[in-house]
Amino acid sequence: MGRLVVVSNRVADPRKPAAGGLAVALRDALLATGGLWFGWSGRIVEDGTPGEGEVRVQPAGSVSLATLDLCRADHDAHYAAYCNEILWPVFHYRLDLAEFGAAAAEGYRRVNQLFARKLLPLLRSDDVIWVHDYHLIPLAAELRAAGCAHRIGFFLHIPLPPPPLFAAIPENAWLTRALFAYDLVGFQSRADVGHFVGHAVAEAGATAFGECGLEAFGRRTQVRAFPIGIDVDEFQRLGKTPEAREAYETTRTEYARRKLLIGVERLDYSKGLPQRIRAFRELLTRYPENRHSATLIQIASPSRETVGAYASIREELERLCGSVNGDFGELDWMPVRYIHRTVARRRLSGLYRAACVGVVTPLRDGMNLVAKEFVASQSAADPGVLVLSRFAGAAEELVESLLVNPYDVHGTADTLQQALAMPLAERRARHEALLRRIREHDVHQWCTSFLQALDASSTPALKPRARAQRSPRPASRARPVRSSRPR
Ligand code: UDP
Repeated sequence: MGRLVVVSNRVADPRKPAAGGLAVALRDALLATGGLWFGWSGRIVEDGTPGEGEVRVQPAGSVSLATLDLCRADHDAHYAAYCNEILWPVFHYRLDLAEFGAAAAEGYRRVNQLFARKLLPLLRSDDVIWVHDYHLIPLAAELRAAGCAHRIGFFLHIPLPPPPLFAAIPENAWLTRALFAYDLVGFQSRADVGHFVGHAVAEAGATAFGECGLEAFGRRTQVRAFPIGIDVDEFQRLGKTPEAREAYETTRTEYARRKLLIGVERLDYSKGLPQRIRAFRELLTRYPENRHSATLIQIASPSRETVGAYASIREELERLCGSVNGDFGELDWMPVRYIHRTVARRRLSGLYRAACVGVVTPLRDGMNLVAKEFVASQSAADPGVLVLSRFAGAAEELVESLLVNPYDVHGTADTLQQALAMPLAERRARHEALLRRIREHDVHQWCTSFLQALDASSTPALKPRARAQRSPRPASRARPVRSSRPR
């Protein structure tokens, strides 16, 4: 494989352990190929010109980090509006929270054009380009329009909704066409692949070829599921650090006579937090033996606080936690311990280990790494039980967890009770199977299998297309475009 060029909204130094999941995942491939990582610098130029921005390239060991500044108008239209108020809610099945608008769509395209224009001069002929996530769907189409013939792959980290929901985005035809500019399109789950194929066939007259090929707009692309994982060894190493041990010991001592349940997420409306607190209330109501004992530690780290929908979910969550504590709490027992702060990952691993039940019940989630981290942190001799939403991408893989419908508060309460009462032999058997799965499909396997598939994808354009794509103007339905015959 040639040099790896990663493009994502944000860039991190892959040598730094605190750089986060994606950096850990891509580190080996970037270092091995002396790669380039390109993305937004995080800087907003208040009085800058839309569609313009300065790029800085700096070395990070053998890797180069190239970062681009955005002006206020571009940032607000691209990231704040189109990404956060249209793509994020619709892709998480929350049409009711979407704020559609043509200006946002224009800003989204403008920033993708800017990314393409600034990336092109940095490319070498043997580069393989891997584009990440919903911020950059049209990037390959913009690069192709400028004559880029490199191999380009795309991975969507969030879910892709079923065809009727995707079709509700006014620019859905343009987004679908843009995905066909990639040689390989990866999704988190088989369900997401099915949604994309269904949409492309129904709306763009796409036809299938080979095992995972799809053809439309005069192009062929491979479409496959690549469920992302965690670095199990790294996470287990974190569990041995002094911070993790301290978090474990303190929590176990403080809750020696209690049964701990733990939930950890960003405070996002996709995570099902109000439903979870209602289910916990139901657990205390229907199974009174848990009173004075079961304690839910809920970490909800701050996220996108300037967006209205996030402020209202926070208010609702805090009201619900307060009412459960008011109705059931005792002087020496608070049923819910709610923490609105980000907790360091190394402390988290100690907390996961101290809990009997991991409660991971999003209404919709691309994958959910917390579920995998909880499994990796458990002691094999006396493991906790994972209660997992069937609407998390992880549910396709982690079938030995206890799967729940998070909207069904009564059913979830019953499953929490089942988890709290589960015999040791069953807990061990489930944990062993889950740990095997997350080891087999860890983050390194995810990265390697995507890059191998991209390398093997020989799906050049059926007809050369150097023309610019049509604008993302609202189009309620794409006119079915019949694909031309295979090469
Ligand atoms: N996380 C963290 N501190 C917190 C909350 C979350 O370090 O206070 C980490 C968590 O360990 C996990 C990631 O953030 O690695 C969340 O990933 P996930 O896929 O579960 O959800 P996302 O936030 O990407 O939707």
